[in-house]
Amino acid sequence: MMSGSANVCNGSKPAIRGDAAGAVVARISLSYLSFMPAVELLTDVAIGVAIPSRNARGRIARLAGVVDSILASHQYPPVIEKLLAEALTLTALLGSLLKEPQGQLTLQAQTEGGAIDLMVCDYLGGELRGYVRHDAERIAALPDEPTLQQLFGKGYLAITFDQPVSDERYQGIVPLEGRNIGEAAQSYFSQSEQIPSLVRLAAEKRGEHWFAGGLLLQHLPEGEEGRERLHTRLDHPDWPHVAILGGSVKAEELTDPELPLDDLIWRLFHDEEEVRTLAAVKLGRGCRCDPDYVRSVIARFPAEEREAMVGDDGLIRVDCAFCSSSFSIEPKELSS
Ligand SMILES: [Zn+2]
Repeated sequence: MMSGSANVCNGSKPAIRGDAAGAVVARISLSYLSFMPAVELLTDVAIGVAIPSRNARGRIARLAGVVDSILASHQYPPVIEKLLAEALTLTALLGSLLKEPQGQLTLQAQTEGGAIDLMVCDYLGGELRGYVRHDAERIAALPDEPTLQQLFGKGYLAITFDQPVSDERYQGIVPLEGRNIGEAAQSYFSQSEQIPSLVRLAAEKRGEHWFAGGLLLQHLPEGEEGRERLHTRLDHPDWPHVAILGGSVKAEELTDPELPLDDLIWRLFHDEEEVRTLAAVKLGRGCRCDPDYVRSVIARFPAEEREAMVGDDGLIRVDCAFCSSSFSIEPKELSS
């Protein structure tokens, strides 16, 4: 399971931690197969976490510049900025679980009667994007810490895992209930998927910049994906222990841009027999809109609908909802 690209969270700093956990460091350093140059584990990165003796694993992620860059394309009120920062963090946690580099993870909120009528985030190869369509007046009337119900009305979050190479597509639907989308995602995994899970998300603006962080832990006794649902027990004695330690993480630890993620994992789980941090995924902002793609989408509309899109200047104007890029298309380019 350990590969050359794996990193061991307490192996990297044995001088500091050796006294407290000398035996652990000595044992774990044997599993170092090769030296991995240190990746900055501070911001815009997700790393895998494994606690083998408890059959638990997951991801921890922190976003900074990626969130600022995505939010800069929009002018959202602070409530929406915080929500999108947390949703992007959840997207990064779940997206980085995909095994295929071409795999895509999409979160889409479908709502009825909420101040938000659409929220979409997606992940492809470490690149994130997202946007929120909302009623600014209704958002302005909400309290500073609105519930999901106040934001979305009767809402659902569709989580879609799409792995094109193995042709695996899987969608789960999460009711948007609870205090935040982390809570909603956690109850989905625990109740619908029967996988004991912990999800913590936090986002905070420090000065002019947003910092967001998240932790996802799951109990997977069989270790192999695909078999876990048959074998998971919600009352397994290992799990409450992991959930208590993981659940003790503070929002300010998740968002602190100066606290390396491997240090945070060590802080939470140093009493465990063994805790590993696995390969890091660098996160960035990415949008896949380009003129050819936009033309191909518009070309799929019936001719009469395309004619209705033509503006006074004779062009069809399309704005990308994710990144706010604007495209002008000559209708004759679309004639087929
Ligand atoms: Zn775009």
